[in-house]
Amino acid sequence: METLALETSLHRVLGGATAQALQRAFEYETVKDLLWHLPRRYVRRGELTALCDLPLNEHVTITGQILDVQRREMTRRGGSLLNVRVTDGTGFITLTFFNQAWREGELVPGRQGQFAGKVKTYQGQLQLQNPDYQLFTQEQVSASGVDAQAMQRAEALAFSRVITPVYAATAKIPSWVIASSIKTVLDHLPVQPDKIPAWVRKTAAVCEFDAALRGVHMPQSQSDIKRARASLRFREAFELQLSLVARARNTAAQFTDARKAVSGGYLSAFDAQLPFQLTADQVTVGEKLQTALALNSPMAKLLQGEVGSGKTVVALRAMLQVADNDGQSVLLAPTEVLAGQHLLSVQQLLGDELSCKLRPVLITGSMSAAQLKAALLEVVSGRSKIVIGTHALFNDRVAFYDLGLIVIDEQHRFGVDQRETLRQKGKNPHLLAMTATPIPRTVALTAFGELEVVTLRQLPANRPPIRSFAVHIQENPELNVRAWQKAREEIVAGRQVYVVCPAIEGAEQDDPLSVSGAVKRPRASVYDIEAGLKSRADYAGVRIDVLTGQLETAEKERVMREFAAGEIDLLVATTVVEVGVNVPNATVMIIVEADRFGVSQLHQLRGRIGRGEHASICLLLTEADRTSKAWQRVEAVACTSDGFALAEIDLEQRREGDILGTAQSGAKATLKLLRVLFDGEVIFQARALAEQLLEADPELTTAPGLRAELVTVAAKAAGITKT
Ligand code: ADP
Ligand code: MG
Repeated sequence: METLALETSLHRVLGGATAQALQRAFEYETVKDLLWHLPRRYVRRGELTALCDLPLNEHVTITGQILDVQRREMTRRGGSLLNVRVTDGTGFITLTFFNQAWREGELVPGRQGQFAGKVKTYQGQLQLQNPDYQLFTQEQVSASGVDAQAMQRAEALAFSRVITPVYAATAKIPSWVIASSIKTVLDHLPVQPDKIPAWVRKTAAVCEFDAALRGVHMPQSQSDIKRARASLRFREAFELQLSLVARARNTAAQFTDARKAVSGGYLSAFDAQLPFQLTADQVTVGEKLQTALALNSPMAKLLQGEVGSGKTVVALRAMLQVADNDGQSVLLAPTEVLAGQHLLSVQQLLGDELSCKLRPVLITGSMSAAQLKAALLEVVSGRSKIVIGTHALFNDRVAFYDLGLIVIDEQHRFGVDQRETLRQKGKNPHLLAMTATPIPRTVALTAFGELEVVTLRQLPANRPPIRSFAVHIQENPELNVRAWQKAREEIVAGRQVYVVCPAIEGAEQDDPLSVSGAVKRPRASVYDIEAGLKSRADYAGVRIDVLTGQLETAEKERVMREFAAGEIDLLVATTVVEVGVNVPNATVMIIVEADRFGVSQLHQLRGRIGRGEHASICLLLTEADRTSKAWQRVEAVACTSDGFALAEIDLEQRREGDILGTAQSGAKATLKLLRVLFDGEVIFQARALAEQLLEADPELTTAPGLRAELVTVAAKAAGITKT
């Protein structure tokens, strides 16, 4: 066989059927793809799978011992049914085979093996129907769908080793075929050079790449596994950090116009008329931004701050500093509602005089051609110093006179490439990304590692607290009744109410992406709840309206405007009210079927109240079982108002991929081994070493392999930008 490299196509190494199966099942094309398919776990021969923990309806590979075998002729259907009971010593699972009576010859009681299939229940018993299997013997096993040669190899392999890796597999390609394919590849792969310089490896105390690769797939001992995984995990962290640090350095090395603070300008005027005192955090962060904007090197910061911590004011003050230098700023928001809301609050904060001078302007996808044309002219002429908009801003037609600062609200809703698109509209403009979802430092370093994090921890002092309660509507029906009474009382007292529902129309299907553990039933919908409230005698006279993402833009705007103006008392809405909506007079939020939402989402929603002078209350209604994760989520939100603590709980319940989402930058789309929440030390060390390496050797001449990788990443990023 030819000498293999990581880039070699799998078709040249493996049998055509196997290569194709790997392609179909996992989209693996190359040797490298396959080698990064890491074992999910390992079993020792003789070590049995705990059958009591098997997940239903999932594809599993189990190790067990055959207990007994029973054959039945099926008189009505014809044919035969073979039931093979397998045990781990504590539980049982039955393998069923139709018309494969010959298997009786090899599936004899006492034999051990691996069995792979989807876990079902039949009459209360666990079953694998027509599973693939591999018995721990020398005999040839010819299981359906797997080529015989691979089986033989795999079998020999399983026997030659004490520890057998178990891979994520599918019905078409069982774990042991993957193991044997990987063995074939590793047998022909020459020793792989290590891209990471020896001194970095030594400091991190990790083994060489080649040893790690072989150790993770074909370990001889537990310590092999540990060492291999630690090495691969560090590599993942290091390569990711290297690309992030390199990107940050590249940005910092670019030239941009300095926007120094001036006295007697817009910013001074603004500060002089501000109706409140800035919090200490706002002052500190403000000073950091002031200094950064005054440099010729583009700022790249992530401002994280609790809902209501006053990020907008901080961002606006930075914009004013840029405007004092004749530069323009753009504020990007994820939804039209939010963009519109931002325009309103910017205008309000600026007051008439400054608004006249700075001409804040809105750009969204739903503007009429004439409106858009006028707005674009304001922007390209440089007359408007503050431009607020949605995705519509990415359009080529949006051109600036002198874009000095990009502010991105709710930045996790946008990708790195979109951020780049905006950057191209100025000469290396400064960047301020904002997020109200507090993120732990490890996550920030991983997902937004090219940005420096600044934080607003305090809320403005005048905020009355929000009281929150989880209400179990079946166990405490009287509290449910009380919740709706309370809402009405507040309305009578002149306040306003949000009611948030998980769905728009009745009887919507559960969406498959909704939070796991949610109660399975049709979701409560905006229109059903609206109808229900309108028919209540005690709500007669209450002005009720709805807001959902499906409404026409003009209608959305009308509703938001009327709610903001106090012309609507009670707003039944979906999560469109989640971010940024600012109506200080709203003091009650009732979240219907709160268990349908994630922890951070609930916290965000709750942030819509408690924004004014009146005490507020958030009622989280749920029917979730008190022992369920769903109830725990709801209760966690009710019990704490610390967004940072809630973010951690949220992370524990989700996969990293969801967290990093589109915002994840760097080389890899998915992390294989690195767990951002738990591998803090690895991440911090990788970060420090990446910085050290780039500081000592900015061109990476001592690490050509790493440089090549960075160039590929950069080229990919550039490719995205152009589209
Ligand atoms: P968020 O961080 O959620 O975006 P906002 O910037 O929307 O928060 O601020 C929420 C509200 O608090 C706004 O009405 C804003 O004007 C007000 N606010 C901001 N800073 C202060 C402060 N230092 N003192 C009092 N109110 C403030
Ligand atoms: Mg905001």
